[in-house]
Amino acid sequence: MNNRILIVEDSSFHGKVLQDILIKNGYQVKLTRSAEEALIEKVENYDLILLDLILPGIDGYDFAKQIKETYPYLPIIAITSVAEEESVSKALSMGADDYIKKPFSEVELLARIKVQIRTRRLQLELLERNRELKSAYEKIKDLANKDMLTSAFNRLYLREYLEMLSKQYDNKLINCFIIDIDNFKGINDTYGHLTGDVILKRLVEICRNVIGDLGIIVRFGGEEFLAIITEQNDSFYLAEEIRRRCEMDKTCGFNWTISIGVSQGIITSNNFLIDTEKLIKLADEMLYEAKRTGKNKVVKYKAEG
Ligand code: GH3
Ligand code: MG
Ligand code: MG
Ligand code: MG
Repeated sequence: MNNRILIVEDSSFHGKVLQDILIKNGYQVKLTRSAEEALIEKVENYDLILLDLILPGIDGYDFAKQIKETYPYLPIIAITSVAEEESVSKALSMGADDYIKKPFSEVELLARIKVQIRTRRLQLELLERNRELKSAYEKIKDLANKDMLTSAFNRLYLREYLEMLSKQYDNKLINCFIIDIDNFKGINDTYGHLTGDVILKRLVEICRNVIGDLGIIVRFGGEEFLAIITEQNDSFYLAEEIRRRCEMDKTCGFNWTISIGVSQGIITSNNFLIDTEKLIKLADEMLYEAKRTGKNKVVKYKAEG
């Protein structure tokens, strides 16, 4: 498709000359006589703007500034006359990418236009590459840090997360939940593995909805998850809310339940990893207790004394 150029030039003589040259050289051209008239145009549909600086109403400088604020990659070539020599630096500082002096040579005008359009195309390509790289990076990060099935974090990320917490937290309260689906083997055997997978995903969704920004959820083993919740004095009600929502869930048309072991402790930054490991172990013991005493319940560790 032919490149499109928007001319903003109040002198009908100069405007016509420019228009004729550009059309003759295969450009699609729209000639406007003022900045106000040009602003009615959908400027984003153009590849370049040729801009006279001295205009009635909004002048070329303000127009260039305004355009660049919204469309930083749309090239603007200012048209100046020799008498406006000092205006060149002002025009460039307000957003014009290049300038050409009246009277101009046709060859030079066309060459400058080509350079600007080529530069813009390269800039847009770079932006696109950047977007692609960014999204590839996000995908790789997700693959490295998350469990593919449920999109809960994996153990690798847990380590990174705990190290990050240890730098921010000293003498802070940390809560651990170990969450395990009750009789999950039976669910798989009765309804099939795919249905089992749906339940796993649903469980993570429920955990996320309840925990929100208060912590993270990690796939710890097959159907076992760990939630780490920071700075929450009373986390028991969160665990209880997760348990309740699972019990009420009708995603697969049958009832399923979970058990949760909860532990809580003050963690110091120099012993962070060891202390959290101890907390996780305590939560695991509480989970065992929940399973032993009938399942579908939350059991919280109570410090002695
Ligand atoms: P309990 O109430 O004591 O926890 O019993 P359970 O049946 O849930 O526990 P058990 O450890 O006997 O069984 C866990 C099952 O989880 C066995 C395994 O096949 C299943 N499982 C592990 N990972 C996945 C998975 O990714 N998808 C599905 N569908 N099942 C899984
Ligand atoms: Mg003028
Ligand atoms: Mg289980
Ligand atoms: Mg288990």
